[in-house]
Amino acid sequence: MLIVGNWKMNGSIAMASDFLARFTGHWRGSEGVDIGLCPPSVYISQFEQTLRGSAIKVGGQNIATELEGPFTGEVSGRMLKDLGCQMVLIGHSERRVNFRENNDIIAEKYRRACAADLTPILCVGETSDHRNAGLTLDVISEQIYAVKNLVGEHALCAGVIAYEPVWAIGSGVAASPKQAQEVHLSIRDLLGPRGKHTQIIYGGSLNRDNAKALFTERDIDGGLVGGASLHAEHFLEIIRQAEIA
Ligand code: PEP
Repeated sequence: MLIVGNWKMNGSIAMASDFLARFTGHWRGSEGVDIGLCPPSVYISQFEQTLRGSAIKVGGQNIATELEGPFTGEVSGRMLKDLGCQMVLIGHSERRVNFRENNDIIAEKYRRACAADLTPILCVGETSDHRNAGLTLDVISEQIYAVKNLVGEHALCAGVIAYEPVWAIGSGVAASPKQAQEVHLSIRDLLGPRGKHTQIIYGGSLNRDNAKALFTERDIDGGLVGGASLHAEHFLEIIRQAEIA
């Protein structure tokens, strides 16, 4: 199981400090559950310094397609690694939509993450229009194949896939366990034989009330948590649900 928190563009130094004190104050280690936290890049060092020596990994929310140079505002894979990151989110729907990242850009970012020795967490998912038109799997296979075609099956399967239906993100309405399991199983089939052990995690309005039912599904290997990861107690409860699933 893997539980990753995505803070998006939220927080402050004071809020991060309060969260980290509450979180480390209550966390006693988790058997069988890996944990990651992806704060805004400006707070990565604060997270990393507090969590250093614990089993909790810190990650970035985005990575540049370039290595270094005149790319104002970008953060490279090497810089994330330098800050102590071990993972990075790639292709979050907010990046795809608001920053017009297409499948080719996302594949390149995935390649950069692998080259920097960061575990890529590739976010895929359909909009409600896609779902209503019966295009869920077409969209997801395009998103996955774009990466596979660039980096190959081995690198794709060594990463993490986050199934995040766009209609569920931030809406308060998560996919039902049955809906999510159906897509997770299809993703596993798409990955092929090497994908048997790839972690496929669910994201989209995951919270402490619906986590247990989702984590009980066979092909759901954890969660990517947005809003609920901003509250230490909520995030800890989601981790507890993963421990007992
Ligand atoms: C996300 O954006 O990755 C996410 C899962 O958000 P939320 O949990 O807030 O729906």
